[in-house]
Amino acid sequence: MANQDFLNEINKRRTFAIISHPDAGKTTITEKVLLFGQAIQKAGTVKGRGSNQHAKSDWMEMEKERGISVTTSVMQFPYNERLVNLLDTPGHEDFSEDTYRTLTAVDSCLMVIDAAKGVEDRTRKLMEVTRLRDTPIVTFMNKLDRDIRDPMELLDEVETELNIMCAPITWPIGCGKEFKGVYHLHRDETILYQTGHGHTIQDVRTIKGLDSAELDAAVGESLAEQLREEIELVQGASNEFDLEMFLSGDLTPVYFGTALGNFGVDHMLDGLTEWAPAPMPRKTDDEREVSAEDEKFTGFVFKIQANMDPKHRDRIAFMRIVSGKYSQGMKMNHVRLGKQVSISDAVTFMAGDRERAQDAYAGDIIGLHNHGTIQIGDTFTDGEKLKFSGIPNFAPELFRRIRLKDPLKQKQLLKGLVQLSEEGAVQVFRPLINNDLIVGAVGVLQFDVVVARLKAEYKVDAIYESVNVNTARWVSSDDVKKFEEFKRKCEANLALDGGDNLTYIAPTRVNLNLSMERYPEVIFSETREH
Ligand code: GDP
Repeated sequence: MANQDFLNEINKRRTFAIISHPDAGKTTITEKVLLFGQAIQKAGTVKGRGSNQHAKSDWMEMEKERGISVTTSVMQFPYNERLVNLLDTPGHEDFSEDTYRTLTAVDSCLMVIDAAKGVEDRTRKLMEVTRLRDTPIVTFMNKLDRDIRDPMELLDEVETELNIMCAPITWPIGCGKEFKGVYHLHRDETILYQTGHGHTIQDVRTIKGLDSAELDAAVGESLAEQLREEIELVQGASNEFDLEMFLSGDLTPVYFGTALGNFGVDHMLDGLTEWAPAPMPRKTDDEREVSAEDEKFTGFVFKIQANMDPKHRDRIAFMRIVSGKYSQGMKMNHVRLGKQVSISDAVTFMAGDRERAQDAYAGDIIGLHNHGTIQIGDTFTDGEKLKFSGIPNFAPELFRRIRLKDPLKQKQLLKGLVQLSEEGAVQVFRPLINNDLIVGAVGVLQFDVVVARLKAEYKVDAIYESVNVNTARWVSSDDVKKFEEFKRKCEANLALDGGDNLTYIAPTRVNLNLSMERYPEVIFSETREH
């Protein structure tokens, strides 16, 4: 039997990420969440102009320039008896691979929707990913201080387009200049909105019940009447919150508010910390499930980030602890290498500054200093040989040859590319028959990121040239003899990726199809599970 203190530590953890379309307000909400988590004193520092303080994830020059979040970072803070881990997901579409992998490390998601726009593209895609694991979803309808679409219509759209039932927990009173606050259906009270308190936690005024003269006076008779009518409709027509359906990913509680005005974010956090699941089990390659309450330590690496802090110039491997407890100096088994390692200096991400982890439990993320031995997808245990499954690498769809302006720095270039590919930011291929270096990406922007980072972090100036590669597949086969024949005959199309895995790089789809027909014994795979 695990002891009670240990179980309490695990059961108070809530690990989630935010999914949204760019500009819906993810950064602003993150900032307000940190404000409520007492991790920052005053909001307005995240993207504030003229401020030297940037959000902890906004560390890269390019990121600042473009206003996109390239990195994934982790923020831990206490809220309502819980300990919350918020994993930041990269905002730009080109970095979806990273986002997908981050979503394997959380137990629930907050979906943020711009209420003036409704369900947008990227939200649709990310919801598909969360569906693979039936991740529970909490919804926040943002920007109520603007003219939004009809709330009923927004719920309908979420239900039909994202195929998830909506259970409104709060309901808006007016919007735009007329936004007065929300009625909380579970608490049976109206919470009034005041402008001008976007940066600090505000004292709110609440009014109990719907049939109250005070309500009429506070929001005006016509809005109060409209609210009463709408609530009657909502209570009749929409779903009631059901914990089991939420936990199975079939129903989402919905909140309304404005992140910029710092209103409603706390209602959402109250719901999320109460209902979202404590650390969930994870599956292994041999179809076993490891429970968070298992006292033996296990974890997997879902993300590697180079040079997180220019002052540190290190590489950090982000590990989700699946079970047990990490304590400083403990020994772990690095399963892929079959090696025992002693971890003395893991970092936690208590919002504010990176701190040295003392203890960490299932559900937490810790950062391991990586000197090139750790790869995305690696499992660590307290000795047992097991491997967590489901952390994908996607075949790139865009390819360029990368060339140095100064040919003497070839070694440095290779080192940079291999490290960036370890992070999963980009993929690098080295053909078997020549010394080319081919960069493969899922989105165009990745190419720019790679050149900028090579320059900033590895001091090499590189440029791209076009290359006759159209698509790539990882290849393997159980038939050793046929595989040897395939390798001999197709050598001109074979390359090694950053992890030395054999890849078929095809000049055209037709070429790929022909080879697949010719060598049915060979498996051509579009994703590589780490
Ligand atoms: P992200 O791209 O999802 O991280 O979105 P941001 O948090 O950067 O927000 C995008 C823009 O929307 C910024 O200009 C924000 O100031 C603005 N914004 C965010 N929340 C609100 C809100 O509640 N009301 C209004 N009017 N603007 C908002």
